[in-house]
This record gives sequence, structure tokens and C-alpha cells, in this order.
Amino acid sequence: MPFTANRQFKKAPRMFVAAKDMHYTTSDGRQVLDGTAGLWCVNAGHARPRIVEAIAKQAAELDYAPAFQMGHPKAFELANRIVDIAPQGLDHVLFTNSGSESVETALKVAIAYHRANGEGSRTRLIGRERGYHGVNFGGISVGGIVNNRKMFGTLLSGVDHLPHTHNLSKNAFSRGLPQHGVELADELERIVTLHDASTIAAVIVEPVAGSTGVLIPPPGYLQRLREITSKHGILLIFDEVITGYGRLGTPFAADYFGVTPDIMVTAKGLTNGVVPMGAVLVSAQIHDAFMNGPEHLIEFFHGYTYSGNPIASAAGLATLETYKEEHLFERGNELAPYWEEALHSLKGLPHVIDIRNIGLVGAIELEPIAGQPTKRAFAAFLKAYDAGLLIRTTGDIIALSPPLIIEKAQIDQIVGTLADILKTLE
Ligand code: PMP
Repeated sequence: MPFTANRQFKKAPRMFVAAKDMHYTTSDGRQVLDGTAGLWCVNAGHARPRIVEAIAKQAAELDYAPAFQMGHPKAFELANRIVDIAPQGLDHVLFTNSGSESVETALKVAIAYHRANGEGSRTRLIGRERGYHGVNFGGISVGGIVNNRKMFGTLLSGVDHLPHTHNLSKNAFSRGLPQHGVELADELERIVTLHDASTIAAVIVEPVAGSTGVLIPPPGYLQRLREITSKHGILLIFDEVITGYGRLGTPFAADYFGVTPDIMVTAKGLTNGVVPMGAVLVSAQIHDAFMNGPEHLIEFFHGYTYSGNPIASAAGLATLETYKEEHLFERGNELAPYWEEALHSLKGLPHVIDIRNIGLVGAIELEPIAGQPTKRAFAAFLKAYDAGLLIRTTGDIIALSPPLIIEKAQIDQIVGTLADILKTLE
């Protein structure tokens, strides 16, 4: 099983057998409130009829079509619908089957774009400490999580990392964007000076780092990265696998922060997590480099058997329609102040050293038990599961990202359950 201590799991398996709207049903018949939208992906809630029907219909009509040298209408339709809601300027789409594949695709697009432009020396990539960009080799190379890297050798060469923006001593208990740390973006200038811009292909960051505990940038930070990358002809990639499709109360984090990258990496909420699919959005400039570049470079030698799979495309179309019809992004935005108040009411409870929130995402950071990192938060995860609440933990941080259909009473339930648990933790 992925990211699971299998030895422990086998002793006490936790099994979901059904899901509807905001709840999972466990194998022992209990209802568990989904405080994490599955894995940050089920933004419209579970088993939504429109999506279920679209998948069934598509499976009967056109189950599979090769994406190499051929197409089918639903993939193009979905690409258009994504572009409709994407920031202006991101108007072409490549389909993948996961966030990890979207990351690899984006990194390869960036390097190939420069080559198509006659700048083949631009191959270096810059990620960030505590960044998560999936689990494939490119992603763990630009990613900044020690545990995800240390077992797997030398990884990609030519990768540097910006410092992360998490600063507990200065920013603890910030509401929304934290105040301190905008100057950390200037570290990019130092890296550019060291290597020379002519060697650097792209910078990749999550606008809000999700998997490492909801690390929110200070105001102006992403703008500075944009300015520096533009100045040096370096592509800016936003990994919006978590922040995309309404999580912050806007279609994408790029909208929330008012910063448009050159490439945007998405997955998860694109299909409500129901069918594996990712989408990489690129600017016209990048698209045109391949369309108009030298003849021997017009093909982008990359793609997957399931790129733009018809059933995934149908699920994506039904998902985007559901978001639109039910105004779910706006709903996330409207609920965000209530969410913020509710989460911050946990301040002062035992072990809580920080609470963070943005859109319908939140994190509660706990003081680690000395010498036993992760133990306290994982104990909270197990207790929450037993108490009928699904949370996610990373290190000693509890991360929350409920479906956007959540009701205020369910926000109260999440916070109430967590308050009870925090009082009982070692
Ligand atoms: N990038 C980010 C920012 C993510 O949060 C994730 C998944 N949590 C990924 C990439 C990888 O996505 P997947 O698990 O679908 O490969």
C-alpha cells in the first residue's frame, strides 16, 4: 500500500467499503466524516449522480481510444472547459493520469520548450524545500522531502531548492496569509547568479505547499518569483494538484494570488478524484514553440497510453459541470471565514503550536513528542478515525481539506471532534 506502514496496518486494517456525499462507510458499518476530501481530491463530495452517470454512459459509448495520432471529442471538450476556467494565458492542455505524471510532463515540457527555442543549455530545475511534487524521479528531485528521496539514489542532477516559507517563530497562528518571509523569494536571484540564467529551465513550486502541512506563502512572495523568473527567461511552474479546482475558493491558486505561471500542473479535483486523471496547462508561447519550431522538434516525444482516456474525460466534464452548477468554488470562498474561525478556536488546546488556514484548507501543527516525531499526530489520526472523522497527518501536522459541499454543522463537528481528541493526546 502507498505511504503506509504495512506491518502496522495488517494488525489493525482500516477499510472503507462505501462513500456518499460527505461520508465514508467503514467495513464495520460506521460513518466517517470526510475531513480531507479523500486525498485532497473529492471536492464535490462522494458518489455524485452526474459523475456516476457520465462514467457509465461513456464506458458503454466509447470505452478507450488511442491518444497517439488520434483523438476523441470528449478530450478536446474537456481541454476547452479547463481552459475556460483557467487563468488567462494558459490555453493549451496535455492530459496525464495523476499528479506525479503531470509534474514529470511539466518538467519535460519546460526543458523541451527551451530546446525548441534554441536554448538547449537551459536544463537546470529549481524546486523548494518541503515541496511535494509526486513520487516519480523528476518529482522527488525537485521535491524537498527527505524521506521521499533518501532511499532512491542520486536522482536528477542539476536541481537546486529554494528555502521553504514556513516560519513558526514569526508566523504562528496567522490567519490566511502569514506576514513574514516575502524576502525568501529573492533566494532565487542568488541561485540564478550562481548558475547563470542561461542554464535554468524552470522553477516549480506549489503555491500553497499541501502535503508537507499547508505551508502558506506571505503576500507578494509568488509575485516576486514571477518577476524574477520573467526577468531571466525562466519558466514558472505552479503545481496546483491540491490547490486547483476550487480548494482556495477560486478556480486555481493562480487566481487567488493574482499570479499566472507559464505552466500549471493539475490532477485530483479535475475528476473529483473518481477516475485517475491529470492535466498540464501551458501558455500559447510554449505551445507555439512546438508548433512553429524547427521541423525535427515539432513532436513532443512524451505521452501515456491513457492520456485523455474517454472515461476520465467524461468524468472530468461531469465534475467541472457539477462545480459550476452548484457554485462550489464560490461556496468554498463563502465558507472560508467560518472555517477560519472554527479552526482557530482550537488555539490554546494542549500541544497546539500553530493553526493555519486558506480557502477550505487548514492545518493544526502539534508539538512533537521529544525523540518520537509523527507519533502524536498519528495518534490523533487513529483516534479521529475511531471517532468518525477522517483527517490527514504529515509529520506532526494535522491537515484538513473537506469537500466543498461541507455544511457549517459539519465544520463544527470536525473542530469539536478534534478538540476532544487534543485533550486526550499524550
Ligand atoms: N503534486 C502535489 C502538489 C500533490 O499534492 C500531489 C499528491 N498529493 C502530487 C503532485 C502527486 O499526485 P499523485 O498522487 O496523483 O501522483
